[in-house]
Amino acid sequence: MNYKEYVEIVQDWPKKGVEFKDITPLMNDGDAFRSSVDEIVKYARDKEIDLVVGPEARGFIVGCPVSYVLGVGFVPVRKEGKLPREVIKVNYGLEYGENVLTMHKDAVKPGQRILITDDLLATGGTIEATIKLVEQLGGIVVGCAFLIELDYLNGREKLEGYDILSLMNY
Ligand code: IMP
Repeated sequence: MNYKEYVEIVQDWPKKGVEFKDITPLMNDGDAFRSSVDEIVKYARDKEIDLVVGPEARGFIVGCPVSYVLGVGFVPVRKEGKLPREVIKVNYGLEYGENVLTMHKDAVKPGQRILITDDLLATGGTIEATIKLVEQLGGIVVGCAFLIELDYLNGREKLEGYDILSLMNY
C-alpha cells in the first residue's frame, strides 16, 4: 500500500520552517490504518515482545493497536505532570522545542523485551529519551517502529545499534 497517499504535508506548522507530516488522513481510512498496524505487528511477531512503549500522543495511536493484536501490554510515556504515580524522568530536545518525558517507575520490569512505537522519527530526540526511560528500568529495546522517518533529520544516527522499521521515508 502506498501510505504516502494518506499523509498531508502542512507547510510552516507548528512554526515557520517546519514541514509537518499529518497522519490523520491515514488514521481516518480503515484499510490504510489497519494495513499499517498489520505491518508493524508482522515486524514485531518474531521478536518475543513483552510490552509496547509509546510517547504521547501519536505514539499511543500507533502502539495501542499493535499491543492489542500482539496480546501484550502498552506503556504510555508522557510529558511531565501527566502521570499520577511515581515516575522516572528524562530531558530531551524536539525538532521544535525542549521537553521532559516521564514513565511510571513500575511500568517496565528488568529483562522485559520492549517494542517502541511512534508516528514519526524526526531528529530522534523523543525516541532516544524513550529508550533511556526503558533502559533505566532494565528493559531491553528490541525494536522501534514508525509510520514515517524524516531521513533529512538523521534521527537514525541517534538510534545506532537499535532495530528500526519505518513504513514511509521522506
Ligand atoms: P524527534 O524527537 O525530533 O524525532 O521528533 C519526533 C516527535 O515529534 C514525534 O513524537 C512526532 O510525533 C513529532 N513530530 C515531529 N515532526 C512531526 C511531523 O512532521 N509530523 C508529525 N509529528 C511530528
